[in-house]
Amino acid sequence: MNKAAIAIDGPSGAGKSTISKLIAKAFGFTYVDTGAIYRTVGVYAYRNGIDPKNAVEVERALADINIEIKHEKAMQRLYLNGEDVTDAIREHIISQYASDVSAIPAVRAFLLDMQRGFALRDNVIMDGRDIGTVVLPDAKIKIFLTATDEDRARRRYEELLLKGQDVSFEKVLADMRLRDEQDSSRAVAPLVPASDAIMVDTTGNTLEQSVELLKEIISARLGE
Ligand code: C5P
Repeated sequence: MNKAAIAIDGPSGAGKSTISKLIAKAFGFTYVDTGAIYRTVGVYAYRNGIDPKNAVEVERALADINIEIKHEKAMQRLYLNGEDVTDAIREHIISQYASDVSAIPAVRAFLLDMQRGFALRDNVIMDGRDIGTVVLPDAKIKIFLTATDEDRARRRYEELLLKGQDVSFEKVLADMRLRDEQDSSRAVAPLVPASDAIMVDTTGNTLEQSVELLKEIISARLGE
């Protein structure tokens, strides 16, 4: 039986993962970051010299990829063929690899059951690009988070700086626009709001304001 599921979709840097983690804690849900799973496929392609846009090569590689997700103390850890790649998937270059491989239908099909499995076992708050439209179309609550390009790039840039990565704001902004364009225009599971999604713009909000806003929306819906 399906448990209560909350789908959070939206472009990169809108605050999905940070907000979702805090909401999961507040409501006792399991947080699933689906972008991390696509990033893990991206890491495999990057390390093995596979062109992430080459559907034939990437599809062939899927047979050699085993992904495990473990939830430890509310933290999601990703394992690629037994190796913990939780940090490696956050490298800036992997963002583009993840976006490239995620446009390949075989990759999306490969990861679909894994994502749905979580929602069968636990109450989940799952974030991504197609959770409300494809992965969990029956989710009890669907939220589409947005913010201006500059706001989103600034957040992503600050995150990367904190992790000690050497990248300029201009590069983060340009790369993010490219990735959004690619994610929104692809043929399979593009980044679009579900028709029944609640649109939330986090531009100019502090993290606390966005979390409070979402908590109110979710509490009201869960109580219905
Ligand atoms: O959310 P994050 O930025 O980590 O996602 C990395 C990439 O993975 C996105 O740019 C997108 O192309 C892809 N993705 C996806 N579907 C999801 C989650 C992520 O296509 N549900």
